[in-house]
Amino acid sequence: MIKLPLLSTVLKNIAKRPATNLFPKTDPVPVPEDFRGKIIYHVDKCVGCRMCVMVCPAGVFIYLPEVRKVTLWLGRCVFCKQCVDVCPTRALEMSDEFLLATYDKYDKKLRWFTEEEIEEYKRKLEEQKKAKEVAKKS
Ligand code: SF4
Ligand code: SF4
Repeated sequence: MIKLPLLSTVLKNIAKRPATNLFPKTDPVPVPEDFRGKIIYHVDKCVGCRMCVMVCPAGVFIYLPEVRKVTLWLGRCVFCKQCVDVCPTRALEMSDEFLLATYDKYDKKLRWFTEEEIEEYKRKLEEQKKAKEVAKKS
């Protein structure tokens, strides 16, 4: 006699609803607390200590000595969270964003502190310097 040990299980499951998440028609499966998603960089909190540059195993950070900040290329990030843990001013945090696919590795959504923002920041520093000099003279 042929034995079909799984037959009863198969028959039971045929009558059940599928257990599949139909993403992207539905929302993705919720992420757990402390999920390691896209890094967020708070430029204003950064003091340019370079700890993140030293610990990052993937070379995501480039230090910008002229402004004492960093710029990030997230296309290389391996989501290890070491930079977040080491940052003394909490200028880095991990979000729960994980839908990061793109056609362009230089996509701006994978970058923090872009060339335009760096130039803008330099302009602000220059203005502040000039304002201080004027205040000193008066
Ligand atoms: S999470 Fe890891 S790989 Fe990504 S930027 Fe931070 S240290 Fe680098
Ligand atoms: S570790 Fe934090 S404060 Fe230091 S350079 Fe990196 S982002 Fe800035």
